[in-house]
Amino acid sequence: MMRAFVYEALPSRIVFGPGAQAKIPEELDRLGVRRALVLATPQQAASAHETAEMLKGRAAGVFAEAKMHTPTDITERAMETVRALGADGLVAIGGGSTTGLAKAIALRADLPQVVAPTTYAGSEMTNILGETKGGVKTTIRDRRVLPETVVYDVDLTLTLPPALSAASGLNAVAHAMEALYAPDGNPIIALMAQEGVRAFAQSLPRIVANPTDPDARSEALSGAWLCGACLGAVTMALHHKLCHVLGGSFDLPHAETHAVVLPHAAAYNAPATPEAMARLSRALQVEDAPRGLYDLAGRIGAPRALRDLGMPAGGIAHAVDLALANPYANPRPIEREALRRLVEAAWEGAPPGT
Ligand code: NAD
Repeated sequence: MMRAFVYEALPSRIVFGPGAQAKIPEELDRLGVRRALVLATPQQAASAHETAEMLKGRAAGVFAEAKMHTPTDITERAMETVRALGADGLVAIGGGSTTGLAKAIALRADLPQVVAPTTYAGSEMTNILGETKGGVKTTIRDRRVLPETVVYDVDLTLTLPPALSAASGLNAVAHAMEALYAPDGNPIIALMAQEGVRAFAQSLPRIVANPTDPDARSEALSGAWLCGACLGAVTMALHHKLCHVLGGSFDLPHAETHAVVLPHAAAYNAPATPEAMARLSRALQVEDAPRGLYDLAGRIGAPRALRDLGMPAGGIAHAVDLALANPYANPRPIEREALRRLVEAAWEGAPPGT
């Protein structure tokens, strides 16, 4: 019998296609934005300036200081710029870090956001904001942070380096995997999750072989949209909590940490989630989903060991303690010994479940 569920779709407008960034001016008009502040990281400042030029009179200026994990001091500086320039809307050109800054400003000033993602992180589809103050990261869900309009332009993703494309794609796959066994899952989200995983399994090897392949990039970007929608709709579990703890405690890079932990979190939860694993296996076209994820990571050159990301061996016990400190829902109960084995295998880069 179908399980009971409640599903509330998050309202956002999606504009998808090659060259879609040319539609940002008319999307701003739809939202009634006359003076948009264009946001980016320092590395993508040139891209933000190009966008500002394209917006002609609709751009108030550029703020290219976005940083991973949304530090609140940077948000405060951006707020001063918003006030000084009289900005009445936001355009974000970048990955999860830039989207995070747009969301943090929207939380404070309730300005409409047009987000053009350049990675596969999926933040643009969620009402979730993680902010860091004094080294402590807190996460909230708030309707004000959900971007009004998302412009998926495959051209903006062509410059994403192959290694980051691989890691970012697996970051997205992790949203889909946890959505497949979420306690508040539902049939729509399961379809989106399965198709999102399929899109990445097919496209990532092609992207790594040819980073400017427009078809493969387009398929990956559609996967990012679907996986991001999964993240926004349902509750995440062990995988996301563990990556949060590891990233925060050892200052590890976001997408790469997700890429390493994914097969191990899958193996941990597999005994408790046969239906989710069956869907995951179908999407990956493999017999065994955790092993399939590990093999995919190997094939596309994604990192497979936390030690290669700079985590010290001495940190394993601390990570396990932290992950056990705040209880959270997970399909398989969190057991200290099994969790320690998981973190050890991820640290070493051993195959999952060993
Ligand atoms: P990122 O935004 O930090 O980007 C990584 C680096 O790649 C940056 O230097 C960026 O400028 C560069 N880059 C991005 N796209 C590029 C492109 N197309 N070409 C060349 N360079 C490019 O990385 P990310 O993994 O997208 O985002 C990570 C952050 O997003 C974390 O802080 C994470 O917590 C957050 N996040 C939040 C949510 C949410 O729902 N709130 C979801 C996913 C991620």
